[in-house]
Amino acid sequence: MKVGVLGLQGAVREHVRALGRLGVETRVVKTVSAFDSLDGLILPGGESTTMSLLAQGGLLEELRRLSAAGFPMFGTCAGMILLANEIAGRKEPILGGIDIAVARNASGRQVDSFETVLEVEGIGSDVPAVFIRAPYVTRVGPSVRVLARHQGVAVMARQGKMLVASFHPELTEDLRIHRYFVGMI
Ligand code: GLN
Repeated sequence: MKVGVLGLQGAVREHVRALGRLGVETRVVKTVSAFDSLDGLILPGGESTTMSLLAQGGLLEELRRLSAAGFPMFGTCAGMILLANEIAGRKEPILGGIDIAVARNASGRQVDSFETVLEVEGIGSDVPAVFIRAPYVTRVGPSVRVLARHQGVAVMARQGKMLVASFHPELTEDLRIHRYFVGMI
């Protein structure tokens, strides 16, 4: 199995390291040809607007094609924004693929970064989670399964082989969420 990490910007190395610790072969993806023989893709946290601009052209089209085709993808934080079907203040999704609506940077400046422990369905009740200027999920469609909530708000969800988290599992030493994604592929 080989899992790609979208390498345009953001927490790329940390995801590569987490997958490596699980013994999964990885490849940093920056071009369309780098998708060859990949089994899944992680879209890291960073800046969703910057990533969408850097992906303009063929790469964006290929990412859209793959997400529409049900290719296994895991978006964390900005990656979740890329995969959301609706983004507050935008007419179109960036890639789309999971039936949720998100608002960017909705947690406000004072609490814009924090660490907590979450109960995640199918994983455990003590999963560490780092939130950094996290997107806020404002709607969850009927075919989306919410796997974790924080203060009542969905922070991790799945639809088919698409997984999203508004936090950063790659910034902790806990590998369970990456293992869960690899298990979905
Ligand atoms: N707020 C960022 C965005 O809008 C996401 C933050 C993150 O990925 N840590 O893209």
